[in-house]
Amino acid sequence: MLDADVREALLRIALLNAIKHGGKARAGPVIGGLLSERPDLKPFVRELVPLAREVVAEVNRMTLSDQKAVLEERWPGALQAEERRRAEERAEKLPPLPNAEKYGRIITRFAPNPDCVLHLGSARAIVLSHEYARMYKGLFYLRFEDTDPRTKAARLEFYDAILEDLEWLGCKPDKVFKQSDRLPVYYKHAEDLISMGKAYVCTCSKEAFKKLVMACRPCPCRNLPVEEQLERWEKMLDGDYGEGEAVVRVKTDLTHPNPAVRDWPALRIIDPEKHPHPRPEVREKGYRVWPLYNFACGVDDHLMGITHIIRGKEHLTNEVRQRYMYAHFGWRYPEAIHYGRLKITGAVLSKSKIVAGVEKGLYSGWDDVRLATLRALRRRGITPEAIRELMLQIGPKAADITISWENLYAINRKLIDPIANRYFFVWEPVELLVRGCPRRRFVAELPLHPDRPERGRRRLEVSCQDGVARLLISGPDAAEMRPGRIVRLIGLFNVDIVELGEGRVEARFHSEPYEVARERKAPLIHWLPIDQAIDVEVLRPDGAVKGLGEPGLAEEPIGTLVQLVRYGFGRVDAVGDGWARICYAHN
Ligand SMILES: [Zn+2]
Repeated sequence: MLDADVREALLRIALLNAIKHGGKARAGPVIGGLLSERPDLKPFVRELVPLAREVVAEVNRMTLSDQKAVLEERWPGALQAEERRRAEERAEKLPPLPNAEKYGRIITRFAPNPDCVLHLGSARAIVLSHEYARMYKGLFYLRFEDTDPRTKAARLEFYDAILEDLEWLGCKPDKVFKQSDRLPVYYKHAEDLISMGKAYVCTCSKEAFKKLVMACRPCPCRNLPVEEQLERWEKMLDGDYGEGEAVVRVKTDLTHPNPAVRDWPALRIIDPEKHPHPRPEVREKGYRVWPLYNFACGVDDHLMGITHIIRGKEHLTNEVRQRYMYAHFGWRYPEAIHYGRLKITGAVLSKSKIVAGVEKGLYSGWDDVRLATLRALRRRGITPEAIRELMLQIGPKAADITISWENLYAINRKLIDPIANRYFFVWEPVELLVRGCPRRRFVAELPLHPDRPERGRRRLEVSCQDGVARLLISGPDAAEMRPGRIVRLIGLFNVDIVELGEGRVEARFHSEPYEVARERKAPLIHWLPIDQAIDVEVLRPDGAVKGLGEPGLAEEPIGTLVQLVRYGFGRVDAVGDGWARICYAHN
């Protein structure tokens, strides 16, 4: 009853299962996988078991890289399809969106002010909004909120930078809007509100207005007739008022318990001479009246058909404010999900601090490895997949949460360990002199990756003069050494420590086989031939570390992820003749 097709399917599923679990498949999940693909086989489960065991045993006899090679050859794309499926499964772990069924198509948005590059703190809003849109086969919009050329001025360079950051993160928007293109839209809606008597032009001083509103009392402007309000509005647009002399306010409940909600400001005057907009096509229009956050954002969420707003709970009051305007227009407020604060210990997530630091030269640029910008993370070899996965794990919970860098590193480590090439890096180098070497030359052939023999090997040659080999080892390893101890130099030979000198360790050749080291429980340390080392600088968030490394590091393309053996993971940042610079990711 069980034909060759079944065996083939079992082989494919067993290979996927093995690759997922570091090379070892298990019969149970393999049978389960087959039955979910082929429910028609359920009556034959008893016959399936021995066959599945046989196939699993066959797969488990292969190395992990052979398993991958066989799968790739026989079922090209199967591994990628499996990864996609798992990503979708993960996304489905997000709680469902409220009232999703009420909307024909789910539309979410990410709405940054282009006044800085993106950082890890923005990733949650982006990843969740994007993932939810994908989960419901909806749309994800990017909206630049750039209508404050005075205090939160946008900068041209950040429009492109943010878009690039989003694409890198794997959250490409379906549409991009710039609020500075939409001033006529805001003007029309302001005029509509004024005409309906739901907004007014207030010419009171800030202090006078505040005093009245704190006492739950209207200012003298509030109840002026609509005709007069419209005249004032025209005067605002025509430039008859200076900065601070007039604002449009949206009427709310003057007795609202939160004074910040009462008659909030919607549009105000900004002098285009003093505060020109960074976009030339906007600047040339000479706009003097600019919408404030709640007005522009509220109008846009409605007009763009945003169904679900996913943002931090610091926006709760904004929802209260905007709901008044929605009621005036007879609009329905989108579903809003407010997640709790996310604190990442040790990360600078203040845009103003980042911008000021880069401007003062405190940081080398937006990708300075000490920053938590997406650019800095990318430069260090933190993958977008790791950031996405972390944000999905955190999800949209309302409770505040504190995470550490280690949470991100743990996910990233799992993702890059299978792909990062291995190299020796010797920091705080100390010379190791080995006497009594029985040959003139030793060649260590080390795999670039222990699970991926197809990548080839790196070759380190040690030449001995008069039986003496000169090597370099790391200072912390040298500090652990004691005379009489056996130490194995990975891939090379075992030595017997003789004497510890100032900046130098003297040893005697002991033996070559690894088994000897294992029996003697000798520590395994990495090393370099003294005449083959290149200069390596590792840029870490806590400072730069200089040392020496294998020449192969300088031959890796920029952007390659590497593991510096017994030191940590990183990304090749720059290389030159006889040197390499690595940005450190994590251990
Ligand atoms: Zn007033």
